[in-house]
This record gives sequence, structure tokens and C-alpha cells, in this order.
Amino acid sequence: MIYIFLVDGISHTREDINLNKKILHDFDTAREKFKGFEFAYCVLRPEDLKYLREQSAIYKKAVMAVQEVILPAVRNHCPSCPYGTCCRLDTPELSIYIAGTIGCFGLIDYLLVRCDTELPEPDFRNGRRNLCAFWDNGCRLPPDCRSLLCLQFFCEPLRSDLDMNLVNDRLAVLKSVVDNFSLARLFRRQTRS
Ligand code: SF4
Ligand code: SF4
Repeated sequence: MIYIFLVDGISHTREDINLNKKILHDFDTAREKFKGFEFAYCVLRPEDLKYLREQSAIYKKAVMAVQEVILPAVRNHCPSCPYGTCCRLDTPELSIYIAGTIGCFGLIDYLLVRCDTELPEPDFRNGRRNLCAFWDNGCRLPPDCRSLLCLQFFCEPLRSDLDMNLVNDRLAVLKSVVDNFSLARLFRRQTRS
């Protein structure tokens, strides 16, 4: 027998509810972690920002180089996406689970996009709707302020429309900025004082 429960006016099976508990738990943890990312940015002193600014400019330029090649295909496919969107916290049919992040950011790519840029406020109510905190009928983040993870996902329709060799070349530049970024160098002055 399948039991149906009503939560927020929507019917759910027990499995749905257990899964939602996991998603919400992971999302709450991600929210705390994300606050820590912002705190790390806010404690940087003006003299420490020079290195971050240099790297941020390179990262954002590399993001736009990726966007330049993928945006035409995104505009072709995403408005009529058969899944509605892939920006859900949990999309098993696409093997996506991003509930443990806000906007798929880690500390390094967060600092690189946050540098001198006021990002839109995440909408944490989205967690209850199984959606990324930056989603509202599309991504609310500026095009050059995307996380590395978000830029690396391509569904089959996108892949078939893209020159993936060119995309991968441009992604490699982006990854190298993140891989070579040194938190030790950024925070060196903080730990010495
Ligand atoms: S990238 Fe693919 S799965 Fe994601 S919203 Fe666009 S069409 Fe849908
Ligand atoms: S940050 Fe933007 S692109 Fe990435 S999952 Fe969220 S809404 Fe989608």
C-alpha cells in the first residue's frame, strides 16, 4: 500500500518525504557553509584584495569565454527544457544532486566571483521547492559570476548542439584558474597579524 501525505498542499509518498528531509538537511548545512564563504570575503583587508582581484578578473574573463560558446545553445534548448530545469537540488533523472551547495559554489570560485561584486541574495525558500537558491525562472546570477560546477553540466540536447572540443578547451582555462588559486597566499597576511 502506498501512503500519501500532504505537505504544503502537495501530495508526497513516504519516500518523497524522507528524501526531502535529506535535501533540506543538506541545504541547511550548505546555507551555513555559504555564510562562512561570505565571512571569509568580508574579513579580507583592502591590501589583501590585490591577488584576489587579479585572479577574479582572469576567472570572469574565462567564464565569459565559456558563456560565449554555450549561450546560443542554452537559449535554444533551456526555455523548452523537458525537465523544466536542471537547476533543482535533486534531479535523479539527470544524476544531479546539488543540495549540499548554494549555487554549486566552493570557497574558491565563490571568492573569485564575489570579488568587488554584489551578488543577488540567495532565496533560501527555494530549498522547499527543490530549487537552487539562485533560481527564479532562470539563473539570477550575472553571466560572469557562475560557479565552476554550474558551467560544467551539459545535457544531451546541449551537447549535440555544441562544439564540445571548443567548450572543453575553454573550460580547461577556467579550471586552471581555480586549481592554481592559492588560499594560503590570499590569507597569508591574515594569519601573520
Ligand atoms: S541545460 Fe538541458 S537540462 Fe538544463 S535547463 Fe537547459 S535544456 Fe534543461
Ligand atoms: S547557480 Fe544558477 S545555473 Fe547554477 S544551479 Fe543555481 S540557478 Fe542554476
